[in-house]
Amino acid sequence: MQVIKIMDEVLANKIAAGEVVERCASVVKELVENSIDAGSTEIKVELKEAGTKEIKVIDNGKGMSKEDAVLAFSRHATSKIKDEEDLYHLMTLGFRGEALASIAAVSKVTLMTCETELGTKVVINGGKIEEVSPGDARKGTIMTVSELFYNTPARLKHLKSLYTELASITDYMNKLSLSHPDIRFTLINNDNTILKTDGSGNILKVIKAIYGADVARKMVKVEDENNDYSISGYISLPEVHRSSRNNMVTIVNGRVVRNMDINRTINDAYHSYKPDNRYPITVLNITVDPSIIDVNIHPTKMDIKFSKMDTLLELIKKIVVEAISHKNLIPKASFVTAKPKYENITLDLERTPTINNDLYEEKTVKPNVVRENVIYEVSDDPAPADVIEEEIKEEVSEKMPEMYPVGLVHGTYIICQNEKGMYIIDQHAAKERCNYEKFKKEMGNPNIASTALLFPVIIELPANDFLILKENLQILKDLKFDIEEFGVNSVIIKQHPAWLTGDIEDVCRKIIEIVIATEKNFDIEKFNEKVATMMSCKKAIKANTNITMEEMEALIDDLRNCKNPYNCPHGRPTTIFYSNYDLERLFKRSGFDVIK
Ligand code: ZN
Ligand code: ZN
Repeated sequence: MQVIKIMDEVLANKIAAGEVVERCASVVKELVENSIDAGSTEIKVELKEAGTKEIKVIDNGKGMSKEDAVLAFSRHATSKIKDEEDLYHLMTLGFRGEALASIAAVSKVTLMTCETELGTKVVINGGKIEEVSPGDARKGTIMTVSELFYNTPARLKHLKSLYTELASITDYMNKLSLSHPDIRFTLINNDNTILKTDGSGNILKVIKAIYGADVARKMVKVEDENNDYSISGYISLPEVHRSSRNNMVTIVNGRVVRNMDINRTINDAYHSYKPDNRYPITVLNITVDPSIIDVNIHPTKMDIKFSKMDTLLELIKKIVVEAISHKNLIPKASFVTAKPKYENITLDLERTPTINNDLYEEKTVKPNVVRENVIYEVSDDPAPADVIEEEIKEEVSEKMPEMYPVGLVHGTYIICQNEKGMYIIDQHAAKERCNYEKFKKEMGNPNIASTALLFPVIIELPANDFLILKENLQILKDLKFDIEEFGVNSVIIKQHPAWLTGDIEDVCRKIIEIVIATEKNFDIEKFNEKVATMMSCKKAIKANTNITMEEMEALIDDLRNCKNPYNCPHGRPTTIFYSNYDLERLFKRSGFDVIK
């Protein structure tokens, strides 16, 4: 039976061409998506030298007939799109009919496929079919693409370093396994297994395969819905963060998409729980009626637009805030350092005439250059996901517990204890958090009193800053500042809000700096946050200050009453926990055999 139909020429032209085969990752993407479309439950990707030498995709899908196997490599053949309507209501993957033809045109391809009893083998070199013969009767398809770009040296030059190629393939495979937890994926490069998922349908297990058990244990399950959207997935505890946004994965109706608004909303919801320039690990599965989304059909992008964006972002914010605000977020002192998988990658430096030398010039790149995309060792002990979930529940179920100070180290760290173990509190960070919540409350109070200054403060500014401030004086007046223009490039402040204390001139200058810096997209909430953060730090006890036991007790009480007692407003931790078990382990008091 011929499944693949020749796609209408006009339609084909609508799909942007040419950029389909750009990198090794685009070939992997094309082949793997075809495997998914063929209903495979197991897909194995084997690379040689990050795919520059060979990419082999083995699946157990439904396979192709001899006719389809040959037709698959002709331009504009596709089994998915029949008319334009289909294109716009696209719910399946892999719709680019011309991709296989493009890949075959710039490489050497061997296709082994079997639909029923009779297998077919097709060999194509540089787009020319060289052999069509009977093949093995193994059900499924094996597609081998070797020497990519061997006949287009200009394109070959375009490939990045092997690390970069491998990193982008790995990134793609990671995301694909998250969106298809029911498929068993394996990714191998030069005999090193980089990713292996079990196809059990459990996303947490996939997270574990990608990031390791330590991260998986620190993921919180989330689930909620409104009239239009239903969301489920996992988000990391605030203590787990990365330097790249790349680990925030959004899946819409089974497809990984990219959306800046969603990422920003997630990140904002973590505000002050973690540093703003670090990003959480999240996997959100969004289910929605396809008629209210608009997927950009450009083959290399995964952009998406929603017609009811506001309600979606509201729901996402609610999910994240609820998930992290009811947890005990004191990070446990950690002793395990996971090893990035990249350290295992060995470059085969043997040069072949078909591979451009440029590819090897970056061979001295140190593994830490690609740490952005850290991939952890797949652990050998496959702790079942329900065990992991059980551990999560246990570790993060209660609010900040009661604890009692026993002493102060270097006038900086308060040592506390309770029946569970030992806590170390950074006194500056703790005080900063208490101040921050207090300032935010006071700043949000419209009836706040103002204090008249005995000696008005005059502040001179650079001319351009002065102009910006002049335009935005109302912001400060709304905050109960009595502030006026005063001579050349200067302002005079006669009254200030009552919550403002300390070195008034210095603090006023800082606040004016914040007005000038945020003037472009002024948002009162963010402005208040910045002012409160700045004030809280200035007012906090500095390190190397000895405080009394009573002061420590009062500080701990205040901290425990905070909405978020776990982080200073800059997102650093206030408290670290050593369980009794951890202490015993550190002092080797417990049996060695129980050490995980
Ligand atoms: Zn500070
Ligand atoms: Zn801080």
